[in-house]
Amino acid sequence: MEKMYDVIVIGSGPGGEGAAMTCAKEGKKVAVCEEYTYVGGNNTHKGTIPSKALRNASQILYDNDRIEGESFQSLLKQTESVIKSQVELRHGFYTRNFVDLIIGRARILDPHTIEVTEASGLKNKYETGAILIATGSRPYHPTDVDFSHPRIIDSDKLLKIDTNPRILTIYGAGVIGCEYASIFRGLNIKVNLINTRSQLLSFLDDEIIDALAYHLRENGVLIRHNEEYEKVEADDNGVTIYLKSNKQIRSDYLLWAQGRTGNSQDLGMENLGIVPDSRGLIQVNEFYQTSVPNVYAVGDVIGYPSLASAAYDQGRFAARHLTLGETTTLKAEDIPTGIYTIPEISSIGLSEKELTQNKIPFEVGHSFFRHLARAQITGRTVGMLKILFHSENYKILGIHCFGYGASEIIHIGQAIMSQKGEGNSLMYFINSTFNYPTMAEAYRVAALNGFNRVELSRKCNKI
Ligand SMILES: Cc1cc2nc3c(=O)[nH]c(=O)nc-3n(C[C@H](O)[C@H](O)[C@H](O)COP(=O)(O)OP(=O)(O)OC[C@H]3O[C@@H](n4cnc5c(N)ncnc54)[C@H](O)[C@@H]3O)c2cc1C
Repeated sequence: MEKMYDVIVIGSGPGGEGAAMTCAKEGKKVAVCEEYTYVGGNNTHKGTIPSKALRNASQILYDNDRIEGESFQSLLKQTESVIKSQVELRHGFYTRNFVDLIIGRARILDPHTIEVTEASGLKNKYETGAILIATGSRPYHPTDVDFSHPRIIDSDKLLKIDTNPRILTIYGAGVIGCEYASIFRGLNIKVNLINTRSQLLSFLDDEIIDALAYHLRENGVLIRHNEEYEKVEADDNGVTIYLKSNKQIRSDYLLWAQGRTGNSQDLGMENLGIVPDSRGLIQVNEFYQTSVPNVYAVGDVIGYPSLASAAYDQGRFAARHLTLGETTTLKAEDIPTGIYTIPEISSIGLSEKELTQNKIPFEVGHSFFRHLARAQITGRTVGMLKILFHSENYKILGIHCFGYGASEIIHIGQAIMSQKGEGNSLMYFINSTFNYPTMAEAYRVAALNGFNRVELSRKCNKI
């Protein structure tokens, strides 16, 4: 037996980091076991950080009318320094907080023992009071598609392609598919986006979905809805996807973006009596405890919402339950959505269709970026902020935004929406002075737009 810990965290992504730091700050002896040589998780090396760095580089190309000459590889090069800085920063957190890093692949032998296999094949055993699983996820691969072929890629393999595509087909129009469609259009690469559903990102508000579809098409993405693949064939020069609708689409690469699978394989779940579901997801209770009380799981390996932002908080909440018995938990409705397409999208709370289905009387206030002085000055006039509020008590029920900076703008509204009782009111935006000119002013404009509509209808009712 190597060492004894209070808590061993498996995985150094946002979920594992949030948990490890919280346990360490509560005075626990903590180790984080990570299979990869560097900390940061898939979040830093394959997911959020590289895709957002690529997206930023692509936005610059859009801003310059997509000048020719840049390749995807040159954009990839630009992501390296961000990843390096993130790894250094995150590594420092572990050192400063006296959290041991064990590099190797962990396997759970029983609720208090972990075996770690190092790259050399050397195995060590560690004893622990509690285990926190934060092993993340990987791209889902259907068995009838040959992912060993260099022309068939997923979001991980995409970061290693060595030739610049002229045509790319993306199968799956979820968040990752839509984001990469935007990124590749910045490089003037032809993009086919194949959606198995009738709408893009149907969990969003309809007006935002329409705007996204319009702007992706406007930027040159060819979207095909309601399609399903029959088979995929690849050769040295490209790849063809055969669709059940009898279409054949040929491109240089096929990017498969049809969901993810939880990393629970070969983790020793059978030694705990836990059976993950068909997508590798581990079931937990509201405090992130598995069916074995001293074993917790957070982040992508437990499924929805599969966001780095949520994984950090889940890690922190799980750690506070584990160390202090605290019962605070993360509510799905409090998690904002940030989608880094071009234009960017962000939302929090309920959509129009959800409010209508739930028969909640609501009104809507809009503000179009093209009418804001700040947007006119910066030339970022594409976009809209939409506030949905209760038409009787003005409580804010949902905020939906698209356009430059949407994922930042949303947090102003989130701060007001999270106020208790009468603190959550549209009137905050009407009665507050905003810096001028700002994008934040969109809140005042949208609030007045909605408020005036309610007042007008009240006046009409009185006549
Ligand atoms: C292309 C893309 C773009 C994304 N963009 C965003 C975004 O803009 N915003 C956002 O919030 N989220 C985004 N996400 C999602 C985000 O990356 C994930 O939600 C987040 O990484 C999940 O964090 P995690 O802690 O659960 O695990 P991960 O970040 O997946 O890390 C898990 C770690 O566990 C390690 N591990 C696995 N098994 C073992 C084992 N047996 N032993 C030791 N170590 C192990 C892995 O090596 C890995 O380092 C994106 C994802 C992708 C793929």
